Amino acid sequence: MANKCLSVVLHGGAGAKAGRDYSREIEHMRGLIEAARDALKAGATALDVAEATTRELEASGLYVAGRGASPNTDGIYELDAAIMDGHLLRCGSVAALEGFESPIAVAREVLENTFHVMLAGSGAAGFAAARGFKRIENPDAWFTRAGTFEDNHPPGTLAHGTVGCVVRDEEGRLAACTSTGGVFGKMPGRVGDSPILGAGCWADGHVAVSCTGQGEYFVKVAAAAQLAHRMRFAGQSVEEAAKAVLAEIAGLGGDGGLIAVAADGSIAMPYVSQGMKRAALTPDGRIVSAAFEL
Ligand code: ASP
Repeated sequence: MANKCLSVVLHGGAGAKAGRDYSREIEHMRGLIEAARDALKAGATALDVAEATTRELEASGLYVAGRGASPNTDGIYELDAAIMDGHLLRCGSVAALEGFESPIAVAREVLENTFHVMLAGSGAAGFAAARGFKRIENPDAWFTRAGTFEDNHPPGTLAHGTVGCVVRDEEGRLAACTSTGGVFGKMPGRVGDSPILGAGCWADGHVAVSCTGQGEYFVKVAAAAQLAHRMRFAGQSVEEAAKAVLAEIAGLGGDGGLIAVAADGSIAMPYVSQGMKRAALTPDGRIVSAAFEL
């Protein structure tokens, strides 16, 4: 008999700092997992649930993505996002997108209605405008700068925040989304791992992955694709593969975390940073939500 279990994991970034109170985020993430579970039970696809959950994370203004993003050194908000459907290997992403409320929704539009997998900068913004996406009229009023209190860091330390969601639906389809404001104090035009399929986001028939952390390191080790390939070609479990990828990143001096769900519904959400805001519907139906150790 087919495995009918449902799994959902989301993250609100691995920039969590020890000693901070994340009870609001923990409550918010729990609510999103409950909503995702209900949507999946009602027959929604993994792709739709991953996108809808990520849109809510963006819209909340609580995390360093979407409304909670921080500006680059020119004071401009350039956002990145990616979405991937593991079932059909369809994907879309936007990089350094300026002026629109939901980068993940624009990435989904790239997936659905272009021949491409990624649009960047003014091309991405022109596409979003042409497709009727909601513009941000007044950035100073719109953005909450959620991570400001996580942002008192020495230059060059790549403090950061991101959101993401991975889902396995009842049919066994997998999907992943990642959306970010990037690292604090980033250069204009800087693009991290989040919108790069195979680095900060990936889904195939084996696993769906969303990463968070110092994106430069996740790009260097092709983090999300490496995790998938460890499972596919080396026979590792999702937990083993996730930990091995993060060990490599930590070995290079980077930090961060990731969430992943495998085709059998098993999940992993390890991190090598102080904490990672995260929540999950486990394959046995439990809901967990936390920022530090469980
Ligand atoms: N990985 C993101 C980036 O480098 C930041 C984060 O996940 O916190 O843009």
